[in-house]
Amino acid sequence: MTDVKEMEEAREMEERGYFGEFGGSYIPEILVATFDELLATYREARLDPGFWSEYESLMGSYSCRPTPLTFAENLTRHFGGARIYIKREDLNHTGAHKANNVMGQGLLVRRMGKNRVIAETGAGQHGVATATMAAKFGYRCTIYMGEVDVERQRPNVFWMERLGAEVIPVTEGTRILKDAINEAFRDWVTNMDDTHYVLGTACGPHPFPEMVSWFQSIIGKETRQQVREVTGRLPTRIYACVGGGSNAMGMFGGFLDDDVELVGVEAGGLGLDTSAHASRLASDASSLGVAQGYKTYFLQDEDGQMRETHSVAAGLDYVGVSPILAHHRETGRVRFEAATDAEVLEAFSLTLSKEGLIPALESSHAFVQAFKEAPKLSQDDVIVINQSGRGDKDIFTVADAFEDPKWKAFIRDKAKSYESG
Ligand SMILES: *Cc1c(COP(=O)(O)O)cnc(C)c1O
Repeated sequence: MTDVKEMEEAREMEERGYFGEFGGSYIPEILVATFDELLATYREARLDPGFWSEYESLMGSYSCRPTPLTFAENLTRHFGGARIYIKREDLNHTGAHKANNVMGQGLLVRRMGKNRVIAETGAGQHGVATATMAAKFGYRCTIYMGEVDVERQRPNVFWMERLGAEVIPVTEGTRILKDAINEAFRDWVTNMDDTHYVLGTACGPHPFPEMVSWFQSIIGKETRQQVREVTGRLPTRIYACVGGGSNAMGMFGGFLDDDVELVGVEAGGLGLDTSAHASRLASDASSLGVAQGYKTYFLQDEDGQMRETHSVAAGLDYVGVSPILAHHRETGRVRFEAATDAEVLEAFSLTLSKEGLIPALESSHAFVQAFKEAPKLSQDDVIVINQSGRGDKDIFTVADAFEDPKWKAFIRDKAKSYESG
């Protein structure tokens, strides 16, 4: 009797977007109807096989799907252990897995009959992806971005504006991502009739964590098939970096029921023994809280004020984390590790010189952990690293880190040519 009752209760919690004790939906009353509409449209799309094939065909013609699985032959030889394969999400249009999510939501927006999208962005990558989707679907687009980030991320702001989006610098609070999130919600409350909020990762109120993970699961589905085709087996371990958790959820989603070890790698920044990192699940620096509409582990102080985070990879320095991943940590299904900035730059350089691949600094976190573990595995083992994005965008950070003198001279000359008119 209690068993049945417990199972029913668990199912009910899942319906309401809880994964264990994490997730849920803590939203203002005024947005309840909008969230209900989104949830209904999403559930309907999930049950409609035609929707997923439309999604696959859109991603095939617009974003290079299925993305290849590349055998890293030279790295494999270098480490002399497990055979290393790399899933190439960097080959998506706009350079990362973010395309999977925004294009999927673009299709849902059409189903809901809306014609305007808004988003918030920190590093700017999600802003560019959303502006691209809006251009393709013909939606009006507004991107909220903290004023500090607008200044730091000029190249991405430049592209958003060229793509036809309106970029609004947020001057409230500390003028970074969390302030942009507040502004985006304010906009949504005023304009929900024609506007959809394109959340960028597997976080936020229900159904975003589940819905974003579903769109991203295209990564894991393809990888599972590809790795079996090429190696005749399932991988021993899979590595993905964890910011909000969407590329990890997408990759892991293909293997949750398999005997495959799943490893999520967070931003260790200057080290977990400092406060300059963004590790919520691999360290004990975070605590349970409710913020930004959902319940998860946040990097916060005793008063619930969000702490400052740091990472060499701008896409990983988020204070919260996917409630689904928080649950997977609790059950032990996913192991969490952290990679420091210094380790990341080393793995990045090694991948460039050995394979000619340029992983994003975010993705390079996953490479760090894979490189630590590959030598301890045997040649019968297969590991897969998710290269969530390409590193071209990181040229400023990388050139600074390596103190490239020719790059500095180039920037200086460029600035001079502007000054002289
Ligand atoms: C945004 C981004 C991430 C972090 O986001 P997740 O939601 O954790 O996947 C990771 N890699 C790249 C290349 C990104 O652009």
